[in-house]
Amino acid sequence: MTDFRALAATLDATDSLAGYRAEFVPAHEGRLRAYLDGNSLGRPLTRTAPALADVVAGSWGSELIRSWTEGDQPWMGWPERVGDEVAAAALGAAKGQTVVADSTTVLLYKLARAAVDAAAAGRDEIVLDTDNFPTDRYVLEGIAAERGCTLRWIETDPGAGVTAEQVTAVVGERTALVVMSHVAYRSGWLADAAEITRLVHEAGGFMLWDLCHSAGSVPVELDAWGTDLAVGCTYKYLNGGPGSPAFGYVRADLQERLRQPIQGWMGRADPFTMGPGYRPAPGIRSVVSGTPPILGMVPIRVGVEQLTRAGIDAVREKSIALTSLAIEVVDSWPSEWGVRVASPRDAARRGGHVTIVHPDFESIIRDLWADGVIPDYRDPHGLRLGLAPLSTSYAEVVDALEVLADYLMTRK
Ligand SMILES: *Cc1c(COP(=O)(O)O)cnc(C)c1O
Repeated sequence: MTDFRALAATLDATDSLAGYRAEFVPAHEGRLRAYLDGNSLGRPLTRTAPALADVVAGSWGSELIRSWTEGDQPWMGWPERVGDEVAAAALGAAKGQTVVADSTTVLLYKLARAAVDAAAAGRDEIVLDTDNFPTDRYVLEGIAAERGCTLRWIETDPGAGVTAEQVTAVVGERTALVVMSHVAYRSGWLADAAEITRLVHEAGGFMLWDLCHSAGSVPVELDAWGTDLAVGCTYKYLNGGPGSPAFGYVRADLQERLRQPIQGWMGRADPFTMGPGYRPAPGIRSVVSGTPPILGMVPIRVGVEQLTRAGIDAVREKSIALTSLAIEVVDSWPSEWGVRVASPRDAARRGGHVTIVHPDFESIIRDLWADGVIPDYRDPHGLRLGLAPLSTSYAEVVDALEVLADYLMTRK
């Protein structure tokens, strides 16, 4: 039998990203043993608090209102500036196509509505899948009701995800928009984004990718995929903090054509003229609606700066090694424990988390959290192990699974 503790020690000793763990805020003594939920809420960096304090004392505390328009980085420009930073580090997108604003839910609504409104006459179907994240399903239900569209559902295998074949089967001359998650929030399935985007375009529809579980974890190539639109969270693998604003991408050549529905003053051309009538600002700026959440963007910039140094390819390499190790440990357990891996075994089709299934996980997770071992739980019976490569060690994974194994053994 493999000695997983020894294996983890070796992997940690040779891990080229190991040093990044020291950049995260340590939990209070005794409050945390293993954190396996970086896909839900990333950890803060030690540089985050001083970066926030600098803004409070400096551009906010001392410069005050002048900071919106003065200084070397006026706040007015932060949605595009921080959008470009996220795009360069995590999205494979050239400048001028990404903003940081709102929440993922609101940005999804704005961009999906814009796409549906811009679709040619007769294109009245929105394609989505049954295992997409709830907010995506609800927002699209709302848009369908507003615009008289029909939702075309792809039935997803909950242990895998949407395939190119399934997309081919549903898209056609009535397709207005297809919305999918690049990494499925439950199974961790990594969709073939380039191929699915190509198929949707061949059918004449718009493609919108939800990157919440991708950004900062797996390489994303928005420009190379040729995708139209994308949205995603910054509080997961980008470590932006609870409720940090989302990012939204609109491909450069679509920016003139698409009109998002929340026409606010901050997305207007010349907002400070406060003139009559809405005229969209040029470029990606028109996606912005209201006053940018400056404080919420400070931790994102710290997280993105760290990701830039580490490099997304190195992050992905460690991510595969972490999820592979977790699967190996679970596979070594006696089959009578009844734990099943509900994520793709093929690393090329798997994102940064692994879901394992057992009927008792809903109650066991309470014990795990009390012990400071923190994965999360998703119905039905799924324990999600979210392994953020910059903040998670191999030893942490093995330790957490040994604690879980003890609970499974004592239940017998
Ligand atoms: C986390 C997540 C969201 C969250 O949206 P919010 O507006 O930030 O609450 C949306 N979609 C997916 C796929 C997610 O994983």
